[in-house]
Amino acid sequence: MRVIEILGISIHGVTMAEVLAYAVECIKKRNVCLIMTPNAEILYTASRTSAVKDVLLEADLRIPDGSGLIWAARFQETPLPERVTGIDLMYRLLDYAAEQKMRVFFLGAHPDTIQKAVTAAEETWPGLRICGWQHGYFSDHEESVIIERIKQAKPEMLFVGMGAPRQEEWMVRNRHELNVPLMLGVGGSFDVLSGNLSRAPVWMQKSGLEWLFRLWREPKRIRRMLLLPPFVGAVVKEKYFTGRHVGDHEK
Ligand code: UDP
Repeated sequence: MRVIEILGISIHGVTMAEVLAYAVECIKKRNVCLIMTPNAEILYTASRTSAVKDVLLEADLRIPDGSGLIWAARFQETPLPERVTGIDLMYRLLDYAAEQKMRVFFLGAHPDTIQKAVTAAEETWPGLRICGWQHGYFSDHEESVIIERIKQAKPEMLFVGMGAPRQEEWMVRNRHELNVPLMLGVGGSFDVLSGNLSRAPVWMQKSGLEWLFRLWREPKRIRRMLLLPPFVGAVVKEKYFTGRHVGDHEK
């Protein structure tokens, strides 16, 4: 599998078809696979905060969710084959789960949102076995009960949408206890699935402008978007001044 480095963090250069094949293999072998979907903001944070970096490095696959990563890879002359977003991957995995009668668990988002996301998923994927769901605003002392519920539900796939880096930390901390074959960080995907938020038009997704659409719909994202210029600056600096991005290798 092709791996490149952006700001010292390895990113897997995979296509959607390859990620799906990898996920299916994980489920068949009943491994405990963790897939993370970093974007430029989280990658920049990780490059400055070793605790966040350590969490990201625990993933079995780090796939390029954001167009910022696609840009950085191309700029470094180590291009990635395509952008594979968490939401698109979740939808493709739900297609597969419905077809194969697999059990899925949804974790994250506001209580009414996750409820609506479950209803929408049941309508979109008839036959999908949603074996449980839980909103993402629980306290530390509720956590053990939630983990027990997930274990009892025995999902083959667990989708975790609690925002970065909370969802990544949570998955890493609990992966062995949960023993779910496939865990995927999906950010705000339940907001879209529920119908509460719409996704950017395809032309905006394709032209790398999805972030602008999201900023327009959720102006509070401005704080995290402010990390984009320093991300670009760090990538440029690394290419021209540090020369550290040697990492284009096979794994
Ligand atoms: N969220 C959550 N618990 C929290 C904080 C956030 O479940 O403690 C949810 C929030 O309701 C939203 C998602 O996590 O559905 C975060 O979405 P965002 O678009 O910020 O994801 P990111 O871009 O960070 O992946």
